[in-house]
Amino acid sequence: MTSTVVSKVIFADLDNLMYPKLKAWAQHRHPKKSGGWVSKKYWQTIGGDNWAFATRQEGKNPMRLRSHTETKIIRHVKVKGDASPYDGNLIYWSSRMGKHPETTYRVATLLKSQSGKCTHCGMYFREEDVLEIDHKIPKSLGGKDEYKNLQILH
Ligand SMILES: [Zn+2]
Repeated sequence: MTSTVVSKVIFADLDNLMYPKLKAWAQHRHPKKSGGWVSKKYWQTIGGDNWAFATRQEGKNPMRLRSHTETKIIRHVKVKGDASPYDGNLIYWSSRMGKHPETTYRVATLLKSQSGKCTHCGMYFREEDVLEIDHKIPKSLGGKDEYKNLQILH
């Protein structure tokens, strides 16, 4: 299942959750009116939608509540939640940076110790990010080229 499909399913669920809430609100607003009366007041057919929640005002275009399913899915998120493909996956890095095995090992080790997050901003590294190996104490100030003096930053 692609993320688009998943999102559509979720948006459809949201719409299904929305209806009873709107219905309850509308009914609460008009406690003495019948369900049919309330439905007719707040819901109408607009375009292909038989259950558009919208205003009815003489001489004016109805203002309609857009459904969640109308929401465009803009981008596929590559990194889900707080998981990161860079949380120390040596094999992944070996295949990506295989030409420089030493760098690969160093990067992978640092990523693992940082749990895949940038020390500076605390965000997970993503596929499109440029990684920089930084000396905590600059070499010019006597910082050494050893793990405890190294960190990976965006
Ligand atoms: Zn960062």
